[in-house]
Amino acid sequence: MFPEALLQRAQRPVSAYVYSRSALVRAADRVRAALPAGATLLYAVKANGHPDVVATLAAATDGLEVASGGELALAVAAGATRIAFGGPAKTDQELHAGVRAGALIHVESVLELRRLDAIAAGLGARVTAALRVNRAVAGPDGSHRMTGTPTPFGIDEATLPAAFAVPLTAVDLRGFHLHAVSNSLDADAYATFVAGAVEWSVAAAGRYGLDLRYVNVGGGLGVSYTDASTIDLGVLGERLAALAVPAGVDLVFEPGRLLAADAGWYAAEVIDLKLTHGRWFAVLRGGTHHFRLPAAWGYSHPFTVLARDDGWEWPFARPSVEDVAVDAVGELCTPRDVLARGVQVSRLRVGDVLVFARTGAYGWDISHHDFLRHPYPQIIVV
Ligand SMILES: *Cc1c(COP(=O)(O)O)cnc(C)c1O
Repeated sequence: MFPEALLQRAQRPVSAYVYSRSALVRAADRVRAALPAGATLLYAVKANGHPDVVATLAAATDGLEVASGGELALAVAAGATRIAFGGPAKTDQELHAGVRAGALIHVESVLELRRLDAIAAGLGARVTAALRVNRAVAGPDGSHRMTGTPTPFGIDEATLPAAFAVPLTAVDLRGFHLHAVSNSLDADAYATFVAGAVEWSVAAAGRYGLDLRYVNVGGGLGVSYTDASTIDLGVLGERLAALAVPAGVDLVFEPGRLLAADAGWYAAEVIDLKLTHGRWFAVLRGGTHHFRLPAAWGYSHPFTVLARDDGWEWPFARPSVEDVAVDAVGELCTPRDVLARGVQVSRLRVGDVLVFARTGAYGWDISHHDFLRHPYPQIIVV
């Protein structure tokens, strides 16, 4: 629930993200309970890289998955006990930093494997690594597919012989990274994917003479943006409990969205209300430069109206509508700056605040903050 008292801490006009540490911990506990005993839970930092969010989830999970040198620095600063480092375009500097931080590297190409080995050898260090593989088969359905289809991610299954032919002096290859999907809402399909990933890894390790210690199935546990549902963790837990994970194999999950989404709210004050060509618009102090996801994915993000009775100091009437459908739009000079369309409100006034729940993941972090140079939203961590 959005902590309404927080608005006392918000500047006027309200434009703020609120992140809740306790909601992050609750989400981590819920996901953990659905994973097989002994599995590893990492948090994928790209969903929300706010330092307090990263530190809270570093403590509530087994560690962090990072996808850039910047995220790696955040993870080190957060005191993460384990760090996994992926991403298809790691620079020499990033590989250096990964080795020095003791991260396990998700190697994305044969060339990267050669570079990593040379860099670690040059540092006189050893580094653990897993090969990210784009397998021949597709993953479960979701919003994006990363495997079984042409992508810049990982090593094509057909290229694995070349990867295993690279002579390694400083890299300790432990297994595979098989991240396959984003925002899967189908627990049954996701569990089938995990079982298939383990089975495939055992077979591939046998084929290439690898002592298999690590199978990372990535993230992709989904939340719905049009209702309150998520992937069914009860069903997922039941299915995963029946999974046969070979002894000595670390089965790793690295969700981002499901850990962070419900720990964030975006709140934006109504600056103006207007009717043009028969359509009502609620114009907000905020918009897609703070919360781009609905525009990027083409859906209406649900909101609730927080009525504010204080603060109307003008001598003229406060604009107000009742029982109409409104478009919640932002302050940018583009008709695409839309957070929600045609949402029925019982009453809405200038100065009220729209609260968008489930915005803790891929909200502020994926938005184009500087377009039009409006001030950033406040970030309030509770
Ligand atoms: C984005 C990403 C994740 C997290 O995905 P979610 O859909 O947020 O769970 C995990 N691993 C990798 C490699 C990713 O790119």
